[in-house]
Amino acid sequence: MFARTSTVAVAVLCLVNVTAFAQPQSAEPPSVILFDNVRIFDGKSDTLSASLNVLVRGNTIDKISKDPIPTDRSANTKIIAGGGRTLMPGLIDMHWHTMLVRPTPATLLVGDIGYLNLIAGAEATDTLMRGFTTVRDLGGPAFGLKRAIDEGIVPGPRIYPSGAIITVTSGHGDFRQPFEVPRVLGAPQSRGEHTGAAMIADSPDEVRVRVREQLLLGATQIKLTAGGGVASPHSPLDVSTFTEAELRAAVEAAENWGTYVTVHAYTPVSIQRAIAAGVKCIEHGHLMDEQTAQLIAEKGIWLSTQAFPDEMADAFPPGSLERYKAVEVFAGTDKTFTLAKKYGIKTAFGTDILFSPRLAQRQGELLAKLVRWYTPAETLVMATGTNAQLLTLSGKRNPYPGKLGVIEQGALADLLLVDGDPIANIKLIEDPAKNFVIIMKDGKIFKNTL
Ligand SMILES: [Zn+2]
Repeated sequence: MFARTSTVAVAVLCLVNVTAFAQPQSAEPPSVILFDNVRIFDGKSDTLSASLNVLVRGNTIDKISKDPIPTDRSANTKIIAGGGRTLMPGLIDMHWHTMLVRPTPATLLVGDIGYLNLIAGAEATDTLMRGFTTVRDLGGPAFGLKRAIDEGIVPGPRIYPSGAIITVTSGHGDFRQPFEVPRVLGAPQSRGEHTGAAMIADSPDEVRVRVREQLLLGATQIKLTAGGGVASPHSPLDVSTFTEAELRAAVEAAENWGTYVTVHAYTPVSIQRAIAAGVKCIEHGHLMDEQTAQLIAEKGIWLSTQAFPDEMADAFPPGSLERYKAVEVFAGTDKTFTLAKKYGIKTAFGTDILFSPRLAQRQGELLAKLVRWYTPAETLVMATGTNAQLLTLSGKRNPYPGKLGVIEQGALADLLLVDGDPIANIKLIEDPAKNFVIIMKDGKIFKNTL
């Protein structure tokens, strides 16, 4: 009788385990992979190590030693002759939209959700093959894709999902047509809301509901749009959107759940209001001023910003309002990075590539562009160790417990073997197909051309 009860209990637990939080379980003994004779960029320092040996057991970096590491010769053990190549942590993109990279804006709004998921899966595989082993997804219905990747169904990066972007009526992320106004509470949702791309909320109470829904679905952080945006038809760049009370409601709901809010914001007023409400991270910040930069630094707020390439404006038709807004934002890039450096702002790297599979292929090149403001070593540290620090703000909502972005004993084994020294020649990361000879995520090899 007791045995039967516990079988039922286990069955119930298994059912619970089939949620968005499920982690794949393997019955096989952990694999052992030895990287022999590699120089390490550890995600923290500005030089490569001398020749070392690195043992990966299961999904973890088990041992790093300058002496030979003995291994058994079982079928589960693989030895990789590194030949003095560089072993570095997998790259992290802190502003990514797994579901929005490949479709056009029109396809996103009218396309079949099954089709959208399949093209996002193909893009996720390409993302991993570019050496990006982790992305923070800042808006879009990525929960299903994340689960399929975690279960090993589709190769792709680790995803820290925000779920739907939360916006106000007329804000950045409100893609409705004029005939869909007015919105009546309780009426059917707009297409963007229905797919889980963006949710509209117009009071502190409504914000709380929308935030808690995304947390229920598995969001690791919450994304609100605190000001106008480029890609939205109804939001001028200069506008501030959520009130401080609305932003504070989101922060309270996220913090009650052990995590944080990050906001899309370009202008001083939208950034300052978000910080006053307890927001921990600012996305973009391209139109900030000196005083705002100082405030961000003083309060220890993260800045997750991007060196947008001019070609990004090509997603919008010539002469369109969106295109003018893109040009205005892009003009602020140099000032933003200069202020971030001047005030020592905690700065994260991301690309925010939208609606352009062609541009996505240049994800590594967009990272290498940061050498306009940072040394190659600083640039690589930002995209690995520093980005991983920002990921820890998700607290217990982190779906991948363990250390990311660094090579050290006990860290998760997300590793790239680079044919050359990326500190001496950062352009190596612009051609991952050629120069990343091994790509490992979670201790598993996804590419090996050695
Ligand atoms: Zn974005």
